[in-house]
Amino acid sequence: MHRPYNFSAGPAALPTEVLQQAAAEMLDWHGTGLGVMEMSHRSSAFGEILDHAQSTLRRLLAVPDDVHILFVQGGGLGENAAVPLNLSRGGAVDVVVSGAWSAKSAQEAARYADVAIAASSKNSGYCAMPDPASWRIRPDAAYVHVCSNETIHGVELADWPDLAALGSAAPLVVDCSSHILSRPMDWSRIGLAFAGAQKNIGPAGLTLVFVKDSLLGRALPICPQVWNYTELAAQQSMVNTPPTYAIYMAGLVFDWIERQGGVPAMQAAAQERAALLYDYLDASDFYENRVAPGSRSLMNVPFFLKDESRNADFLAQAQSRGLLQLKGHKSVGGMRASIYNAMPLAGVQALVDFLRDFERGQ
Ligand SMILES: *Cc1c(COP(=O)(O)O)cnc(C)c1O
Repeated sequence: MHRPYNFSAGPAALPTEVLQQAAAEMLDWHGTGLGVMEMSHRSSAFGEILDHAQSTLRRLLAVPDDVHILFVQGGGLGENAAVPLNLSRGGAVDVVVSGAWSAKSAQEAARYADVAIAASSKNSGYCAMPDPASWRIRPDAAYVHVCSNETIHGVELADWPDLAALGSAAPLVVDCSSHILSRPMDWSRIGLAFAGAQKNIGPAGLTLVFVKDSLLGRALPICPQVWNYTELAAQQSMVNTPPTYAIYMAGLVFDWIERQGGVPAMQAAAQERAALLYDYLDASDFYENRVAPGSRSLMNVPFFLKDESRNADFLAQAQSRGLLQLKGHKSVGGMRASIYNAMPLAGVQALVDFLRDFERGQ
């Protein structure tokens, strides 16, 4: 089945195969006579769905036993509050500001903790990730927050730093919403990672939290019970009704990733897609990408037409060629192609063919 290519930054495209499987199981999951949306979250059928999603994810990302996987609600913005509520003890929190998302994280954490900016690339227009060697980390920092892929600005931190080697004992907290499952995770480098599902995993409404067991038990008394990591870990993410259908869909996506060859295959495909697009943009005088080469995201590629008066025409022609949702974020302008795991190489090739045709048509 051929569908248009969807370059949305999120909620984003899902593999067609996964949507077809969900459609086929919509009215009757595995002979139970029930759709997944209609099942008690305490039923053994849903228990199977949750266990399967969790164990597949643990295998895909080689998540060690001392890291809890939590399925929660509230999105990335919710985690911007939940992380300081669970980890800061109201003390010092250092945030690396490398784009719109980490700027939001710093703002939200400041409601609950003493936030300082460890580094910022704001003055250079968020065109490069601040070098970890330049991060100023306070000795009493409860943790250091970094967004390792800035979805809006298209800036990625490809390697998580070893904070201990930089002289800090603080755990690193990573917002990996928009690159999760496109590259391996080095668990020795982080204390906690979180990701909204709506980029690389499944429907909006589900957020994944990976937290080391050693970081539990620190929540502030005002931390809402539904976001208390210790309680979520103790109750297998069932403090209240979890986002059951989103968890089921995530499990189907995890199975799909495993069938494709797992995270190494996702990473190789991501590198191939991104190289095809960046190489074309860099060679062209008609378009430009402004992100420093060492900081370019493999998932979100913002670019500009040098003649911005052609933007509306560009988007209309792209749409008529079946290339959807290419408009850039309103805070950045221009265009943005989000090329997550579910985007086939053929989709990026179709985009590059269109970029060339549009340029030639001028
Ligand atoms: C999408 C995204 C989030 C999640 O945002 P919500 O709308 O709150 O779910 C968080 N961080 C980053 C980097 C994102 O791309």
